[in-house]
Amino acid sequence: MRKIFYFLVFLSVILPLEAKTIKSKYFNINFYGDVNLTEFLKKINVDFINLDDIFNNKKSLDSLIAESIDNLYLEVSSILDIHIYSYRGTINIFHSKEDFDNAIYSLGINNSKLSSIFLPDNNTIYILENEFTLGMLAHEIAHAITCNYFITPPPQKVSEILSGYVEYSILKRAKRLNN
Ligand SMILES: [Zn+2]
Repeated sequence: MRKIFYFLVFLSVILPLEAKTIKSKYFNINFYGDVNLTEFLKKINVDFINLDDIFNNKKSLDSLIAESIDNLYLEVSSILDIHIYSYRGTINIFHSKEDFDNAIYSLGINNSKLSSIFLPDNNTIYILENEFTLGMLAHEIAHAITCNYFITPPPQKVSEILSGYVEYSILKRAKRLNN
């Protein structure tokens, strides 16, 4: 019994967490665990595209997610007036809090209160599904863009102000479109 236990622990250490990956123009988007993709799409869509396309089978859920993420990237770029057309980054979305915590812990971040973060070392945005909002993703994409654009990344405080401004602008725009 004990051998089986150790074997399972061993497997969980050597086997990377399985992910579903969607590739968009600007991002590889990895979904870890049982992330609800339709709910995810509804949150990021903000009326940029017509969701009826899914029900009319014109477009797949995956391609609509890719399109929405790219639209959000372009929207954040135009708010910042920073356009990196060759940009490519990664977004990792976790269903489980434990998997999210483990993923950022392995990169040296130990803060169980976090539910999203951009890490410049691997140019990756980490998101916890439960807490996910459009403003949160826009905020982290803004960190990714400013970090990639400036040869010397701006100080943490300036970076937070820029990301906060982007978050505010995106939410204001989403509200206007929904009214
Ligand atoms: Zn921030």
